[in-house]
Amino acid sequence: MKILKTEQRLCLSCMEEHNVNIVEVEEQEIYKDLEVEFISTYEYCADSQEYIETEDMIRTNRLAMKDAYRRKVGLLTSNDIKNIREKYGISQKEFSEILNWGKATITRYENHQIQNKAHDDILSKIDSDPKWFLEMLERAKERISPKLYSQYYQKALEQYNMKNNPYYIKTITTNIRVSEMKLVNAHDEKYIKPTYKNEICSNFSYLSEPVFIENPPILILAAY
Ligand SMILES: [Zn+2]
Repeated sequence: MKILKTEQRLCLSCMEEHNVNIVEVEEQEIYKDLEVEFISTYEYCADSQEYIETEDMIRTNRLAMKDAYRRKVGLLTSNDIKNIREKYGISQKEFSEILNWGKATITRYENHQIQNKAHDDILSKIDSDPKWFLEMLERAKERISPKLYSQYYQKALEQYNMKNNPYYIKTITTNIRVSEMKLVNAHDEKYIKPTYKNEICSNFSYLSEPVFIENPPILILAAY
């Protein structure tokens, strides 16, 4: 048991107001014939030594259990699905619409329902293949508004370009001390190549003049 925080509140175990711990507990459970391990959150009363699960906690803990199961059988977790959807900037309802799965399907997958393998494969393919998603969008054109279509198309195209050229429109803001920088070939504005000690950015060059902001000096790098 790990104590996350302690709060003065009504303890639902003794029905008195006192310090209640919010704790994390490692749990094992059998779900669909598989033993899964996950972390649950509870309120804990040190007086009665009882764990209390609020409605929110029941929901979150069930999801943690199901995500552990998904991980164990090699399915995308609820969060993975949410990240894929957000990568393409689409709402849950519209994403379901594009996939032609029924309006609430994605909402359910991001909350409590475990997706089947066929749907999981489609979501994984969308994640790894923006071009495929662009084709999917094209087929769903009739089902979504022209405004949303164009918005999603742009976003998917951006993902496609980023996949084919990882440096596409990627902008990095980092703290680099000006004193550590040495400009090489300063005559060529397009390809001024800074050398500096910061390893993370050593593969990047900037396209135009660097922007310096004093205190601390910040250099905005745009990779090409
Ligand atoms: Zn209590």
